[in-house]
Amino acid sequence: MKISQLLRDNKRSISFEFFPPKTPEGEEALFKTIKELEFINPTFVSVTYGAGGTTRERTIRVVKRIHTETSLTVMAHQTCIGHTRNEIKEILQQYRNIGVQNILALRGDIPQGQEESFVFPPDGCRYASELVEFIRNSFGDYFSIGVAAYPEGHPESPDLETDLKFFKKKVDAGAEFAITQMFFDNRYFYNFMEELQKIGVDIPVIPGIMPITNFKQIRKFADMCGATIPRFLIEKLQPVADKPEEVEKIGIEFAVRQCEDLLKNGVKGLHFYTLNKSKATIKIYQQIKDLI
Ligand code: FAD
Repeated sequence: MKISQLLRDNKRSISFEFFPPKTPEGEEALFKTIKELEFINPTFVSVTYGAGGTTRERTIRVVKRIHTETSLTVMAHQTCIGHTRNEIKEILQQYRNIGVQNILALRGDIPQGQEESFVFPPDGCRYASELVEFIRNSFGDYFSIGVAAYPEGHPESPDLETDLKFFKKKVDAGAEFAITQMFFDNRYFYNFMEELQKIGVDIPVIPGIMPITNFKQIRKFADMCGATIPRFLIEKLQPVADKPEEVEKIGIEFAVRQCEDLLKNGVKGLHFYTLNKSKATIKIYQQIKDLI
């Protein structure tokens, strides 16, 4: 089923993001997590892709398994960096052959240290907007295409206004919905939505929610993607950084409040970065389900 259609039909969307594990044991643990989350009846789940093709086979395998072994609607992330157009087409062809209809079209991060020197394949796609255009030209309307959104602006962008201009290019090229980078202050999201309205962009934008379960890890992630962690939250988490249970308790409480506020303000859905674990997401869901 196409996510664009589900977003039109559903009152609110709930979705979960997974990464493709490196080992068979990790993959079995992921499928256990998926089983544990299935009762929530998510609108869709998604599987990430390692930029440059590092998880190519694993992503394809996990997407195929979810599609064939569960009742869930699945979306495959697809990055274009480091790939030729032919390689991308081959991967997407495999999804089409089995009936997977949803793609999150991404550029992928430029490898660290190669920000200036990185060479894009001459027949590759330089930006996600080019990838969206390429998918539309190659597969018509077969895929429902989503893209990434950055409420605080993408780290490479000089400012939000510039980033919004390029975000609009992705929508003009055929993207039908977007999922945001994690953020911890809803004001960035509301501001982003207002700015989109001003430039005439009207696709569903689903906030990406990262439940904090490990303070050091989240600081690293947030640094990498340019997400601001509010000072009051750092001050709460810092003293208990080495006490996983306390970090998780604070992280869940915070995510519940964040989701409640987003739901009260009419968001189209919530996308949880699960990190392949179910516990925190289930605890959050149980406290917000009446608002969904
Ligand atoms: P783009 O939209 O192409 O933007 C990249 C940068 O280029 C931005 O600064 C933008 O403003 C600028 N730009 C765009 N078009 C132009 C233009 N024409 N001229 C000049 N500048 C331009 N990464 C992975 O490797 N695998 C994943 O599975 C993955 N999943 C993600 C899921 C979500 C929900 C999100 C939010 C991010 C995900 N990422 C993933 C991270 C993403 O790949 C990186 O943030 C990457 O740096 C940018 O990808 P993009 O698709 O947003 O790129």
